[in-house]
Amino acid sequence: MGRLVMKFGGTSVANIERIHNVARHVKREVDAGHDVAVVVSAMSGKTNELVAWASAASPMHDAREYDAVVASGEQITSGLLAIALQSLGVQARSWQGWQIPIQTSDAHASARILGIDGAELIKRFKERKEVAVVAGFQGIHEATGRITTLGRGGSDTSAVAIAAAIHADRCDIYTDVDGVYTTDPRVVPKAKRLDKVAFEEMLELASQGAKVLQVRSVELGMVHNVRVFVRSSFEKPEDIDPHGTPPGTLICSEEEIVESQVVTGIAFSKDEAQISVRHIEDKPGVAAAIFGPLADASINVDMIVQNISPDGKTTDLTFTVPASDYNRARDTIEKARDKIGYKTMDSATDVAKVSVIGIGMRSHAGVAAQAFKALSERNINIRAITTSEIKFSLLIDAAYTELAVRTLHTLYGLDQA
Ligand code: ADP
Ligand code: ASP
Ligand code: MG
Repeated sequence: MGRLVMKFGGTSVANIERIHNVARHVKREVDAGHDVAVVVSAMSGKTNELVAWASAASPMHDAREYDAVVASGEQITSGLLAIALQSLGVQARSWQGWQIPIQTSDAHASARILGIDGAELIKRFKERKEVAVVAGFQGIHEATGRITTLGRGGSDTSAVAIAAAIHADRCDIYTDVDGVYTTDPRVVPKAKRLDKVAFEEMLELASQGAKVLQVRSVELGMVHNVRVFVRSSFEKPEDIDPHGTPPGTLICSEEEIVESQVVTGIAFSKDEAQISVRHIEDKPGVAAAIFGPLADASINVDMIVQNISPDGKTTDLTFTVPASDYNRARDTIEKARDKIGYKTMDSATDVAKVSVIGIGMRSHAGVAAQAFKALSERNINIRAITTSEIKFSLLIDAAYTELAVRTLHTLYGLDQA
């Protein structure tokens, strides 16, 4: 007997039939004697629809009202699943973020969880064996009493945070793939499922584009040492052996991984834009003049490449931002033109970032060099490169993304036999 969080994403609750399937998965764990808190996403496509409605009402909308609109998708699924569970004779009730409450910052549309009091949920496990069905993605900012949301994919973060708050033994993330793969299995059919991934690697995979887990959920899992297990909701609940280990991927601490590869996985993101500022004066304070205003505008800068100027007078600086912030970033730089003192600015949105990740890179040299060679043989041009201890990222033309990912996947021996 233990305590579990079970999280179901959008495709897993896409219609009433799938919600009934989810209910049977939950019943399976309840029948095995576990205390269960379920976290649900909106039905697939629902959040996109709600986001589009908010934009159609006004492109420059109030972020607090945006949250009031988009949080509603999860409200629906939490109620529907509670009904489906009750119809199977399982004691259950739905919880909205504000009811628990899941307290967050006031950064509307990308709020951070500040605290969750799990006492009431635990009390109900003990007194009534009641399953808690929690609406993911949403919370409340205590001081203003306003509903907040956690950013796209945020139900993963709700799930891990609830798991920490109720001291769950495990947080199962049920999704439409049966685990974390060496790269997106929809793009590379030869991708292999990983049995275990270290938190640090998963953090890099997620932040470089593998959307199977939201980055913050991995951060929270790491900080609170929550065992996160990614598995499929499409397996029939009746076919699961209650004593066996189901297919899936455990996200765990590095020490638990016995045999680590040099390269664990490859992530990619087409949500990138490149901005190059040319002929900037090469003097102290210029980087601050560029990145200060971008930070003030809450624009996340990722890759930064600056050349050493040959004559000590002017230099070029290239950086990347999320494609959604592209126009704002350009405007911000243009506004600061006098302060920065540059000649021209050019940019590109048809770029993609491909990242190669593995803790083994800490102790192996020359891993990136192999990639440069393999990509050059395919005539793929590299626009910018960044490296960190366990990853390197390459900026390339978006049209070559799939080819680059497949080439690197084979190069590092990740293809399924
Ligand atoms: P959910 O709706 O359940 O939250 P998501 O769509 O957010 O599911 O995440 C699951 C998807 O993540 C998969 O369908 C897959 O296409 C994608 N994905 C990207 N990279 C990976 C990876 N390395 N391993 C597994 N899935 C990945
Ligand atoms: N429904 C939200 C989204 O689509 C949150 C989630 O699914 O995790 O982003
Ligand atoms: Mg998701």
